[in-house]
Amino acid sequence: MIKRLELKTSARTQLVDITAQVKGILRNENITSGMAFVYVPHTTCGITINENADPSVKDDILRCLERLVPQGDHYRHAEGNADAHIKATLVGSSVALIIEGGAPVLGQWQAIYLAEFDGPRKRSVLVKIMTS
Ligand code: ZN
Repeated sequence: MIKRLELKTSARTQLVDITAQVKGILRNENITSGMAFVYVPHTTCGITINENADPSVKDDILRCLERLVPQGDHYRHAEGNADAHIKATLVGSSVALIIEGGAPVLGQWQAIYLAEFDGPRKRSVLVKIMTS
């Protein structure tokens, strides 16, 4: 089973918490146990799991990536978003989740994030669920 989340980001770089939407898919489909593969079919955004408590962690991650790979015209890719492609590769385009008790097994302070690097724009997130 494959499900698709559609969302609209609101800034050029942004971490969007999609944990509730992923949990909603599991609830709607009555999935209690298995694995979920969460994947973005885009070249300038990624998926990551990180802290959901202190919002400064999200800011620090985005600021650090900006320091490492600054936006600019000093890249060969002529589209102007080379930094976004590189940041997306650093973050990765998927995460795998263990599902138990009808929910993803996450640490107390963990959330699933879409990592936007070339927004704002519409994004799709694919969730492939394998039950056991
Ligand atoms: Zn590009």
